[in-house]
Amino acid sequence: MSVDAPPPAQLIDTRIGRDCPRCPRLVAFRQSLRSRQPTWHNAPVPSFGPVTARLLIVGLAPGLQGANRTGRPFTGDYAGQLLYATLTHYGFAAGEYAARPDDGLKLIDVRITNAVRCVPPENKPAGEEIKQCRDFLKATIAEMPNLTAIVPLGRIAHDSTVLALGRPLAATPFGHGAQYAVNRLALFDSYHCSRYNTNTGVLTPDMFRKVFAAVRRYLDARSQPTTTAALSSGGKTG
Ligand code: URA
Repeated sequence: MSVDAPPPAQLIDTRIGRDCPRCPRLVAFRQSLRSRQPTWHNAPVPSFGPVTARLLIVGLAPGLQGANRTGRPFTGDYAGQLLYATLTHYGFAAGEYAARPDDGLKLIDVRITNAVRCVPPENKPAGEEIKQCRDFLKATIAEMPNLTAIVPLGRIAHDSTVLALGRPLAATPFGHGAQYAVNRLALFDSYHCSRYNTNTGVLTPDMFRKVFAAVRRYLDARSQPTTTAALSSGGKTG
């Protein structure tokens, strides 16, 4: 993308725009990045995938040289390699992930968003920034008519999702592999697929795949009317 060309429409969330003023620290970071890296996206990163999807994945925040550079969630950094390979394996993505927003990768029945839409310094959003951005997470959830399951990646995404759904955190503590029924939605917790977590062995590709295998089974069961859904309503189920 050249410096002067306007960003492609799909890289702008019209509800948020490119200049969201809500978080002063993130605005200052964005402005400094725009001067230092004028060809990067450097703006709130919109969700990726069809609004009609049954599955929503909630990441933490755009990576500095990943989504913040390319404008598409999890695109251009390590976390995206594991995420998109896993989604492709379970039939949630088709095409070739080539770490570019124009690689033609298609998401199938899944949408990806972030708890915080702007890149935070040191990859660490502050509590108030997470709270400010929760309105956009709420709106993202509310606009998905077929939403059935959510995979929050990491505790911050989990907590913000539960709060966005209007539920208290105490009843639904984050835990890798934990599954909850919240407001008729199934939550499948996973550790974040960051380079740090995979390098330290906190999350192995196999652990990550198991979460999506469970999601696949759950959604497939629900598409067959005679099959009882895998999650009971209310409370923790595993
Ligand atoms: N890229 C994103 O879009 N979100 C994350 O949480 C990490 C990388």
